[in-house]
Amino acid sequence: MRMIIIGCGTGGLQAAYALAKGGCDVTVYEKKAREALAYDWRDNVEPGVFAQLEIPFPETTYLCECVSMYGPNAEKPLFIAADRAALDRNLDRRELAELLVTRAASAGAAIRFETPVDALITEDGKVRGVIVGGKAEKADLVIDASGIFSPFRASLPGLAEPANDEYFVAWRAYYKMKDGAEAPEENRRRVYLRHMGQNGLSWCVAEPDGTLDVLVGRTGELPDAVLADALARLRADNPYLSDAVVRAGQKAVIPIRQPAAILVREGYALVGDSAFMTIPLRGSGIAQSLRAGQMLADAVLAAGNAYLHTLWKYQVRFYREIGAKQFVTDAIKRFVLTADADKLRDAFTCGLITDGDLRGIMTGEGFSLSARSALEKLRIALPRTPFLAKMGKAALAGVRLSRLAKAIPDRYDPAKVRAWTDEMTRLTTDRP
Ligand SMILES: Cc1cc2nc3c(=O)[nH]c(=O)nc-3n(C[C@H](O)[C@H](O)[C@H](O)COP(=O)(O)OP(=O)(O)OC[C@H]3O[C@@H](n4cnc5c(N)ncnc54)[C@H](O)[C@@H]3O)c2cc1C
Repeated sequence: MRMIIIGCGTGGLQAAYALAKGGCDVTVYEKKAREALAYDWRDNVEPGVFAQLEIPFPETTYLCECVSMYGPNAEKPLFIAADRAALDRNLDRRELAELLVTRAASAGAAIRFETPVDALITEDGKVRGVIVGGKAEKADLVIDASGIFSPFRASLPGLAEPANDEYFVAWRAYYKMKDGAEAPEENRRRVYLRHMGQNGLSWCVAEPDGTLDVLVGRTGELPDAVLADALARLRADNPYLSDAVVRAGQKAVIPIRQPAAILVREGYALVGDSAFMTIPLRGSGIAQSLRAGQMLADAVLAAGNAYLHTLWKYQVRFYREIGAKQFVTDAIKRFVLTADADKLRDAFTCGLITDGDLRGIMTGEGFSLSARSALEKLRIALPRTPFLAKMGKAALAGVRLSRLAKAIPDRYDPAKVRAWTDEMTRLTTDRP
């Protein structure tokens, strides 16, 4: 089988590796140069995925310790510390990309750098290949790992495009510590939710090498004036933060929404950010994309073909094992990003939202509520009933969507799939 993968995204490279290893003829087209892949910064990844997919950890990986989470106005932080085994690993994105490229190439995938794909070749709505450098390249399957604003996805009818409030535009830079200054020993990793009451978050994290990792992310757009104000506030709250950028220093986009309702078409499959495979609030795009890339390869290799009903099995597995969980977190994110900033600040400082609650959301460990803490929450909650009712309604909408996501039709039956996606659209449109 001939496979074409658009983009050296993490999921695309995992699919390339597994499909080439399984005997497919795989070509990956990547518009950037090899040394410019991914980003010049470090990100957190849930460690289980490395063992599961037998990917070695990049050499400079280290454990992420406790995070201090601030609500709007940056008053009292909540500290989130997971069990050591569940802690994310912090790794260098370029080191990871290089490792995945080498691994895919050594399994037999041909990787063509600085070779952008221009368009899809479609016949009767079926994807048959791609146009590269003006030439037609036919394939049994085109895997689209080209990122959140995939022009290929946009060229096919009926596939989701992200709305403005479904992605963050984020500034990311590593700054020098001010001469002679030091970050406090505790509280070195500060995350500000709804920073300055705005739709988004910011962070200032002291890295082990003495630099400060700064992110300012806002939904839809990040005008320079908003960025300048946010950096000024971060400097006021973190007086050791200088204005000298030592690494990165660019804007980039991260999806913060539920996965696309449809991941596959005849001859075509979406993997990674092109299918919005991130759990909002957790930067889990890398792990989810890697797993999805493997699931796609598993489905194709098991069936020995890349027909639509085979690709659908990939979507079903992704939805049941990963995607359904995204809907609940997405609902919480939507609530956090749109709730009244003063009430949200109150929820942070009154003890209603605790370190343990946030840990459950951020680490995927889930909630556990003792009778005593439930009573305590009730006592705090009673005077705040309207706010909580809204929060409950939002979470319930997420749970409903998650249930529907799990009830995805087992087989590709066009009528059943249409009914399922229609219901998905109805529930996402109606949610509070
Ligand atoms: C600021 C920021 C912080 C993040 N933090 C984390 C984190 O801590 N943990 C985490 O797990 N995730 C994090 N993410 C998300 C993570 O980067 C992605 O979810 C993950 O890498 C999957 O993206 P992708 O590989 O699908 O797409 P991308 O990384 O966008 O890769 C797409 C690739 O396709 C190539 N391409 C595009 N168009 C074409 C074309 N026409 N032809 C050929 N090639 C093309 C691009 O050059 C690129 O290499 C973060 C993202 C950002 C922006």
